[in-house]
Amino acid sequence: MAGSSVAERLYYDGGDGALEFRAVVTDVRLDSTAMGEGGQKEQVWQVALDRTAFYPEGGGQPWDTGSLVATARSGAVLEVGVERVVEDEAGEVWHYVRKPLPQGTEVAGRVDAERRMDHAQQHTGQHLLSAMFLREIGARTVSFHLGADSATIDLAVERVTEEELRLVETAANRLIYEDRAVRPRWVSRDEAEAMLTRGELRKLPERSGAMRIVEMEGVEFNACGGTHVRSTGAIGGLLVRRVEKVKQGWRVEFCCGLRAVKASGREYARLRELGALLSVGSADLAARVAGLIEDKKAAAKELKRLEKELRASSQLPQAPDR
Ligand SMILES: [Zn+2]
Repeated sequence: MAGSSVAERLYYDGGDGALEFRAVVTDVRLDSTAMGEGGQKEQVWQVALDRTAFYPEGGGQPWDTGSLVATARSGAVLEVGVERVVEDEAGEVWHYVRKPLPQGTEVAGRVDAERRMDHAQQHTGQHLLSAMFLREIGARTVSFHLGADSATIDLAVERVTEEELRLVETAANRLIYEDRAVRPRWVSRDEAEAMLTRGELRKLPERSGAMRIVEMEGVEFNACGGTHVRSTGAIGGLLVRRVEKVKQGWRVEFCCGLRAVKASGREYARLRELGALLSVGSADLAARVAGLIEDKKAAAKELKRLEKELRASSQLPQAPDR
C-alpha cells in the first residue's frame, strides 16, 4: 500500500526547473493487465514516488514521459523509461516502467522537456482560443481534446463562418505577441465561489478544497490542473486548421508553436509536390485541378459519343449489361 500521503506535485509550480527532481519510491506494483503489441503479456511495473514532476493523464491533457535513474551504492546506474503516468481515484500518481524499482529507492527523475512543452503550448493555446471564441463571437467551448497529432475544441454554436475563424485566430495571435503572463495560484473554495459570483470564473469543478486557478493576464481566469507555459508568448503562434460539424456544435482543429510550424511545413511541401506535377504555382492549383476534372468529363462524354457512333454503323457488338 502507498503511504498515508500521495505524491507532492512538482508540476504545479511549472517552469523548466521542475522537470528534473529527486524523489524516493514509496510503492511499487506489477501491472498484470499490461499487454504487448502482439497481445502477449508484458511485465510493466507501476511506481509511486513521494514527489513527482510527471504530469499524469488528466483534464484532456496527455501524460508526461521521461526517465527515472537509480544509483546503487556500488555506483551501478539503473535508468528506466517512464512510458505512461496515471493518477488513481485516491490521488496517487503511478509511473509505468519496465523494470521494478524497490520501495525506498532514491531516484532522479527527468521529464521529457520537448513533449511537456508541446503539451503546455497546445493546452495554454486552447485556453486562449476558447477565450477568444467567447469574446469575439460569443461561442462557448463545451469540450476539448489534445492528441499526439491534433488538438480540438467543440463549440456550442449553430454555425461558424470562415470570417469568424480568421477574426478569432487573429485575436489569439495578437495576445500571443503581447506576451501576457500566465499565472497559476491556489485559492480556497470560498474564494473560487466568490470569483464565480463576480463573473471572473465561468465554471467550477464539483470537488471541495483548494482550487488551482490559472490567470491569463487581462484575458481570463480558469480553474485548471493542467500544465501551462509561463506567458502567452511561449504559445508561439496559433493556427486554426479546419472545422467540422459535430453533434453538439462545431469542432475546431488548431495547433500551436512548433506543431503549427511543422504542420504548415508539411502542407506546403505537399502543395509544392502537387504544383510540380501539374506545372503550376500553389495559388493556381485549384483552378488547374478544376480544369482537369472538366477535361476528364468532356473526354468521357466524347468516348461515349464515339462508341454510340461505332455501334450505329454496326462495327462494334452491343456492350453486355454489367
Ligand atoms: Zn489549463
